[in-house]
Amino acid sequence: MRSPPTVTDLHTLPVQFVKGIGPKKSILLAQAGIRSVEDLLLHVPRRYIDRTTVLSIAELRSRVARDARAPGGAPGEDARREYTVVGEVRSFRVAGFGAKSRFIVALADGTGSLQCVWFGGVHYWKKMFSVGETLAVSGEPGTYGGILQFVHPEIDRMSPRPEDGTAAGKEPPSPWADALSTGALIPLYPSGQDLARAGLDSGGFRRVIAGALDLYGEQFPEILPADVVAARDLIGARAAVRGVHRPSTRDDVSRALRRLKYEEFFRFQLKLAVKRRLAGEEKGGIAFAVKSPLARRLVESLPFTLTRAQTKVLREIAADMESPRVMNRLLQGDVGSGKTVVALLAMLVAADSGYQSVFMAPTELLAEQHFRTLKRLLGSLPVAIRLLVGAQKTALRRDILEDVRSGAAQIVVGTHALFEKEVAFARLGFVVIDEQHRFGVLQRASMRGKGTNPDVLVMTATPIPRTLSLTLYGDLDVSVIDELPRDRKPVTTVLKSDADEEGVAAFVREQVGAGRQAYYVYPLIEESEALDLKAATVHRDRLQREIFPDLRVGMIHGRLPADERDAVMEKFIRREIDVLVATTVIEVGIDVPNATVMVIENAERFGLSQLHQLRGRVGRGSDRSYCILVARRWIASRAARAAARGGANAGAEQALAERRLAAMVETTDGFRIAETDLALRGPGDFFGTRQSGLPEFRVADIIADASLLADARADAFAIVERDPRLASDEHAALRSYLRSRYRDEMSLVDVG
Ligand code: ADP
Ligand code: MG
Repeated sequence: MRSPPTVTDLHTLPVQFVKGIGPKKSILLAQAGIRSVEDLLLHVPRRYIDRTTVLSIAELRSRVARDARAPGGAPGEDARREYTVVGEVRSFRVAGFGAKSRFIVALADGTGSLQCVWFGGVHYWKKMFSVGETLAVSGEPGTYGGILQFVHPEIDRMSPRPEDGTAAGKEPPSPWADALSTGALIPLYPSGQDLARAGLDSGGFRRVIAGALDLYGEQFPEILPADVVAARDLIGARAAVRGVHRPSTRDDVSRALRRLKYEEFFRFQLKLAVKRRLAGEEKGGIAFAVKSPLARRLVESLPFTLTRAQTKVLREIAADMESPRVMNRLLQGDVGSGKTVVALLAMLVAADSGYQSVFMAPTELLAEQHFRTLKRLLGSLPVAIRLLVGAQKTALRRDILEDVRSGAAQIVVGTHALFEKEVAFARLGFVVIDEQHRFGVLQRASMRGKGTNPDVLVMTATPIPRTLSLTLYGDLDVSVIDELPRDRKPVTTVLKSDADEEGVAAFVREQVGAGRQAYYVYPLIEESEALDLKAATVHRDRLQREIFPDLRVGMIHGRLPADERDAVMEKFIRREIDVLVATTVIEVGIDVPNATVMVIENAERFGLSQLHQLRGRVGRGSDRSYCILVARRWIASRAARAAARGGANAGAEQALAERRLAAMVETTDGFRIAETDLALRGPGDFFGTRQSGLPEFRVADIIADASLLADARADAFAIVERDPRLASDEHAALRSYLRSRYRDEMSLVDVG
């Protein structure tokens, strides 16, 4: 038996010091992100079952009968009528075929039996159960053909699967025995298949966490300063850890969770605040002269006046550029808000101070487009701008590289290939990164290495909900262009059935007749790009031959060599193409104000932010513009009905598609679109998997707990403002917390 060290830092104490956790379990736990005793104590229940709603199957049967007689429910009773039963899996099977197939588990508890039913996903469910294991099943019961059923219930595995036999024999007689003898609320813990197989199912977690709580609960550190705890009306850390695992009432749970969530956010924001402070102290950046004749001349030559919002962000950027500290600024603005001009003006400031700028796009196609746009905006201004992309001929490339090296090139447009070793800059001072809705957190860092601490401006077209930009970019300054140029009219958006191809075509023809141009966009559907391309090509041919024989139809896609893409785009810009068929490569960056129609085929397959980006390709001039979403309407609506019944998985997928399309029709406001997108997808997906740089929170949820996040941020930043080195006594716990966690990362707290 291991004995715990006398002075315990629960954060570094391996989870193996908890009773019942051996080497095997601790490896599995580590895979789930639980390494230390602290991690384990912060493994909070997924939900709780109220002991009073746990029924035997016989009781459940009579309760259901009674509820059916009195549909209104007795006064004071839970209107949702969620009940839990615990029983043993007797058998499971697939019933029905194809779209109607369902998965049925028979459960029994000695007083009777019932069925749990899932529609769809039968192959998934088949792997989830073993005969003989004990489950807690919660949901709203019903009867179907006289059989007591739960449809799509919540499942909690209460005993290890019998065939694994891990802890067999050592188990308490009933998997509920321990739980039922504790509080009124039984915590149910999240687990996974591997963990459950090793004995760490919900019940297993309940046992080991109870052990950890007994042994270490009272050592859980309190790092929050007393005044913060008081001001935010929080309970203490120890009470919170106890309250979350051993609550007596629902109130205990919510107070405990609130405290733990707050602390999780606070820890994260404290780190950001300290990082920010360090960046503030870091000099060695460039102090540009912001009175720039070139920038002034550009502003005078523009065919429009800058919006108030553009002027505001320019002032913010100028202030950063003038100061000797390194700029790290995020420029946020909806599609079409005019970020490019802003970036160009900043690059001209750099040029007038004798520095080179880089403008980095996510793809070659976009780099080419930005290059073209920037050149057009510059007009006859004497600024040397070069494009560097992979597809260029060797001699040309050598030429450009030489210009970059000598400093003759003042603005260099390209992709991440600009990082390559052979690209050397004479005097790189300013970096613009057009991330659009990608979040290349790493790339920012490597570009910095190319110059002597250049200022960095990251542009993103995805309006990030404010709470998220605080967490994601907490160590960046944020500028927002929150208005569109005045002459913009919102794009009229309509949803059409794919059976209405001719109606759509007639509308497009009418617009073209009025001198406008149109896009037809296809999603990438197949696994293989080549197949997709083929599909798009076939479709283009059909559009040209059958639908628009009298119009000029062009096509653009990511596989075209750079010069051909260029040629197509030039033709479209010169209005030599009426209808441009495209795969999603045009999603961002294309700027042809005369194009007023965006037809999106198979719109149900696109993500919401993609749809919004695509729509942003029209409505860029002063003419009224249209976005036509073409979807397989009948499938989607059928699926929506299925989902309302609690139906198939595939149905849910399509119901989501329908909600995306509805959001597009309802609003053109990018921020509202982003909020909806986030709500439909959740933050992980919203930012696209791991690389997002999005922190993962264990207890808190950045969307649901947004206001706590804002509070925690305000408090953490205020503390670092008042006491930058966390030197005061009241911050001693914070200081040692940071020191123990981030010793290498932040030599900052190297005080005391
Ligand atoms: P973003 O990059 O933010 O999507 P762009 O910079 O591409 O937007 O600008 C969209 C279009 O609006 C371009 O054609 C640009 O020249 C034009 N534009 C930019 N600022 C203004 C303004 N203040 N008034 C009118 N048009 C503008
Ligand atoms: Mg742009």
